[in-house]
Amino acid sequence: MTARRGRGESEMLLKDLREKVVAVGLEALERGIVHGTAGNMSIRDEESGLIAISPSGIPYPETTAADVVIVNDQGEVVDGRRKPSSETPLHTMVMRARPDVRAVVHTHAHFSTVVSCIRPYLPPILTEVCLVAGARVPVTRYGLTGTPDFGESVLEVLDPETKAVILRNHGLISFGDSFASALAISEVVEEAAKVYVHALAANGGREPEMVPEELIPEMTERFRAGYGQPKEAGVG
Ligand code: 13P
Ligand code: ZN
Repeated sequence: MTARRGRGESEMLLKDLREKVVAVGLEALERGIVHGTAGNMSIRDEESGLIAISPSGIPYPETTAADVVIVNDQGEVVDGRRKPSSETPLHTMVMRARPDVRAVVHTHAHFSTVVSCIRPYLPPILTEVCLVAGARVPVTRYGLTGTPDFGESVLEVLDPETKAVILRNHGLISFGDSFASALAISEVVEEAAKVYVHALAANGGREPEMVPEELIPEMTERFRAGYGQPKEAGVG
């Protein structure tokens, strides 16, 4: 953890996590939930507690593993030749508040951002979103981008179970134990936000029908206990 420069390819600190950051950025770009240099991603190394985070302002297709920055949980650069994401305080504040969260994906997903401008939360519009992200996906107050205030605005609506938070007039952030799970949550929330916005429009701006909230705990329990193939079937 000493040399900040001149490290050979093979000795790159947390190379595997750096490569994951590059890959998830490209995946998010492909899915259309980020554009240009918008959005940022981070993942924590369980052993050291260090965090690999995307660099600030570098387009995803140009980002290499060597551009990814390693920071500690206070956001101080431990290794890397680039400036870390301007939203490093947001990522580290979430990681500190939620030790179960290993991967954080911040995107500018379009329909989630529309919801962020009009509602205090995304209501239970789709069965699938209720199952993976709970009955309501909270929307923050306006947080000042690139500062700890942005992180604070997320912590204000975060509880131990929160899987995603919609960022007022900005975008979306989701959390998981891997990039795959965090990205999957972003995708489901964005799809639900899209259905919600379209349903509002199709309903003349009136609130559409929702999943009955009283059914959500039971269906979530069933989903967690029994959805998909049994583990012993060896599928996936
Ligand atoms: P960075 O390029 O600094 O990560 O910023 C992008 C962004 O989405 C800011 O909220
Ligand atoms: Zn952003």
